[in-house]
Amino acid sequence: MAEQFDVVVIGAGPAGYHAAIRAAQLGLKTACIDAALGKDGKPALGGTCLRVGCIPSKALLDSSHQYENMLHKFEQHGIGFKDASIDVAKMVARKDGIVKQFTGGIAQLFKANKVTAYYGFGTLHVNAGQPGNVVKVKQHDGTEVELKGTNVIIAAGSDSIELPFAKFDGEAIVDNVGALDFTETPKRLAVIGAGVIGLELGSVWKRLGAEVTILEAMPEFLAAADAEVAKLAAREFKKQGLDIRLGAKVSKAEVKAKGKKKEVAVTYTDDKGAEQSLVVDKLLVAVGRRAATKGLLAEGTGVQLNERGQVVVDEHCHTGVDGVWAVGDCVRGPMLAHKGFEEGIAVAELIAGLPGHVNFDTIPWVIYTGPEIAWVGKTEQQLKAEGVPYKTGTFPFAAVGRAVAMAEPVGFAKVIAHAETDRVLGLHLVGPNVSELVHEGVLTMEFSGSADDLARICHAHPSLSEAIHDAAMAVDKRAIHKAN
Ligand SMILES: Cc1cc2nc3c(=O)[nH]c(=O)nc-3n(C[C@H](O)[C@H](O)[C@H](O)COP(=O)(O)OP(=O)(O)OC[C@H]3O[C@@H](n4cnc5c(N)ncnc54)[C@H](O)[C@@H]3O)c2cc1C
Repeated sequence: MAEQFDVVVIGAGPAGYHAAIRAAQLGLKTACIDAALGKDGKPALGGTCLRVGCIPSKALLDSSHQYENMLHKFEQHGIGFKDASIDVAKMVARKDGIVKQFTGGIAQLFKANKVTAYYGFGTLHVNAGQPGNVVKVKQHDGTEVELKGTNVIIAAGSDSIELPFAKFDGEAIVDNVGALDFTETPKRLAVIGAGVIGLELGSVWKRLGAEVTILEAMPEFLAAADAEVAKLAAREFKKQGLDIRLGAKVSKAEVKAKGKKKEVAVTYTDDKGAEQSLVVDKLLVAVGRRAATKGLLAEGTGVQLNERGQVVVDEHCHTGVDGVWAVGDCVRGPMLAHKGFEEGIAVAELIAGLPGHVNFDTIPWVIYTGPEIAWVGKTEQQLKAEGVPYKTGTFPFAAVGRAVAMAEPVGFAKVIAHAETDRVLGLHLVGPNVSELVHEGVLTMEFSGSADDLARICHAHPSLSEAIHDAAMAVDKRAIHKAN
């Protein structure tokens, strides 16, 4: 006999666990199913984000940043040391400890909120003419359970896209999972894709001493970012020795034995159409992610998948099938954990009869490289294309006392405001800790604030946030700490 729930969530990643916990908080009887296993072979909740995405990548970015500072920045602070060394195994073990802490934390939150966790693979079935939906769960112990849900929230997430000519072998050709677990720094690493994941993981191993070549098929670097931000970031990455080759289309990756180890011969066409090759110890394929909807839907559920395998939903994340919703990476929109958080909460609230809404215009974007890159809202390129009149104000971190005191003077803040109404349309940042600073723009835009509002808000001195304050003042040519 199937157990009846108000809400059954398939997937306990950021989107799914937020949906499940919020639904339970609202008094709905909730189950959440997740198929993933951790490195220890035990169930691990939290999805891509906690196991092999946001959190482990940031742990390694931080470790490698500390090491890089030791090599290149300590000296100017007057700090000396004998030898800098990095113990990769210890660094990865630290990362694993953080992953375990946070995935275990979700299991505890489920218990505390009375969300029933099921560990296994869930498939949505049609409930033979009865109201409600059925999810069949193939559990890890081989048994199957049936759950009835008045509502089902699909939060199946995404998987790495594999290239047909560069199949993952978990050793020489890897995706993010493998690149977070190298046992030593590869001497030569090639990355296919100069997107967020390629740049972040490429940076980690570059800082630890790898020769890193990033092959990007597009002719433009970071096309989604503000053009000035992308230009400065490209210059800084080049200075750091990240070899980013644009217009490079990879066609072949052959794994060969090299003594007891392996190496990969990568063939690509460069931006002039000439064939080039490269031999590396590891190849990271970071060309994007695909909705993980394979095997999720039994015949005849009525839930539609689009040509990219994403679950088709309306603006409220409803699939059009009674009681079936979908959120996070497996639906349209940016593949970001915090976008999934908000969708999960919104759907739980809609199910409970509350207003639930996600504002796609104020979702922040962050790339955790050095310098960090972050933005919210429209870029100048977008506004030009849309014919929206705008004005900008920029301010360099080199003129911000706190940034200089921290020996982090690279980068700038740019505020974009509507030319007539002064309403803030975008905030674009490249520099130190901008992953935190970007929320000034998010808040201002959520409250429909103007550049003048931002300029009149008192900012602590000395703080990095002064870059945004002066950039907002510069919109009206009244920045104090630079010539306007
Ligand atoms: C290396 C890397 C770094 C990243 N860094 C960031 C970052 O800094 N910031 C950011 O916002 N985003 C980042 N992301 C993206 C972020 O991880 C995803 O956007 C986010 O995890 C998506 O959440 P989700 O809940 O939709 O799906 P997922 O996190 O993919 O979770 C889905 C879960 O559902 C389970 N599942 C799938 N199908 C079934 C089924 N049929 N039955 C049972 N369980 C199922 C899966 O096992 C998985 O646990 C990063 C991604 C990667 C790969």
